[in-house]
Amino acid sequence: MAPWQVLRCCQRSLAWVPVLFIALVVAWSYYAYVVELCLFTIIFTGEKGKAVVYLVVFHLSFVMFVWSYWMTIFTSPASPSKEFCLSKSDKEQYEKEERQESQHEILKRVAKDLPVYTTTASRAIRYCERCQLIKPDRCHHCSACDICVLKMDHHCPWVNNCVGFSNYKFFLLFLMYSLLYCLFVATTVLQYFIKFWTLCRRKSAENCPKNELPDTHAKFHVLFLFFVAAMFFISILSLFSYHCWLVGKNRSTIEAFRAPTFRNGPDKNGFSLGCGKNLREVFGDEKKYWLLPVFTSLGDGCNFPTRLVMDPEQVIVTSQSEPAKSPGTNQPLPIRPLSESKNRLLSSESQWLDGGSEEEGVKSEIKNHVTVSIES
Ligand SMILES: [Zn+2]
Ligand SMILES: [Zn+2]
Repeated sequence: MAPWQVLRCCQRSLAWVPVLFIALVVAWSYYAYVVELCLFTIIFTGEKGKAVVYLVVFHLSFVMFVWSYWMTIFTSPASPSKEFCLSKSDKEQYEKEERQESQHEILKRVAKDLPVYTTTASRAIRYCERCQLIKPDRCHHCSACDICVLKMDHHCPWVNNCVGFSNYKFFLLFLMYSLLYCLFVATTVLQYFIKFWTLCRRKSAENCPKNELPDTHAKFHVLFLFFVAAMFFISILSLFSYHCWLVGKNRSTIEAFRAPTFRNGPDKNGFSLGCGKNLREVFGDEKKYWLLPVFTSLGDGCNFPTRLVMDPEQVIVTSQSEPAKSPGTNQPLPIRPLSESKNRLLSSESQWLDGGSEEEGVKSEIKNHVTVSIES
């Protein structure tokens, strides 16, 4: 094995250390809560009914937490489809060209047929030299995974995976269920935590006054459990709140730091469709699946509707039955403001030619968008 392969292998193994750490903490918290708190401490105080209720709720939150964590870790990041890769001849031509302008022309020609509406800040086609493909909107190359990831949010060491289009919903649920898990553990442990502070120093339960806990090994687990649950709760809360805000705005973490560049320039709200629709983009249309870590996000990860696109159904009705009228006149409104983003941003020619060809162009753009919506 070559030295670089050994190094890569070591790197990959080390990347699992944070996941292993979390798994050990979770496994210990399970033992501490179920065995030390419920079976040893609560049942010892004679509150069997309470212990059963605690155990049922605990297992429910534990299963949802572990399930969403598992899905976040083991869902492979989605990569761009083959249509975004350069063909062999284009690739050869691209590599032969030494002038940047000529390379850009090649990319522009290929991108013309792709649903790409964002560019680099310098208005160049977003191209990944490493993967040799044109990056779809919201796609970024992850150096840790060494692939281009659709709607990449960030590479998370705690799940040793890229958080992006394929697992963003799982990641959000993982944060939410871990918060609920920590909150439930911390609040139910609190009263026993206080009791252990004021515990009877005698080791034997018989010699202790009523309602006082003996100084057993459970003390360490219960005290520590409270601290760990409270600490994780506080640290995850800010991260979860931030991601709730991002979902509401339909931004990825990367886009929150660097606004995507559209035809009219950078627009941090370019993909925002309104809070409700933004939420559905991630969680899907069927509310019954929202809280389950199963994939229900809308779209294919390569093509995203933007806030400048009107409701497709409305547009079809308007453009087919009766043209939209400007108030107080009989003049049809130009369909121009319909969608900036649905234009080929990368095309140098104007899409808004006067006459019949304009409407045809718009209709075909609308059709494209409707197709995308139906597919999603
Ligand atoms: Zn790449
Ligand atoms: Zn990654």
